[in-house]
Amino acid sequence: MANLLGNIAPLELMCEPGDLGVTAQVRSPFTGEPTIYIYEKYPGGVGYSEQLFAGHSRLIWRALSILTNCLCDLGCPSCVGPVEEVGAEGKQYATTLLKGVLEVGSQQ
Ligand SMILES: [Zn+2]
Repeated sequence: MANLLGNIAPLELMCEPGDLGVTAQVRSPFTGEPTIYIYEKYPGGVGYSEQLFAGHSRLIWRALSILTNCLCDLGCPSCVGPVEEVGAEGKQYATTLLKGVLEVGSQQ
């Protein structure tokens, strides 16, 4: 899921992929929960973070759309990443997580 979001976030922002970094933590020391951070690599930032935060539901929908429309079975570089990296259930896990994020977001 982090790989996918990291790949499409620059498309949403129309910036260079190297402008952003992505990291996933099973238990973030800041949230205490599984967390994906998408951050700006420029010191102090140039506003990309605010734009992503404001449009995060569109980013999640776009990620889910890419994932569900990808013709691979288990994952590929165009979606979650190669199956050798994400495991045989990586695509399914990412799909479940994205749907869960959208469901939580719709309840708030
Ligand atoms: Zn794929």
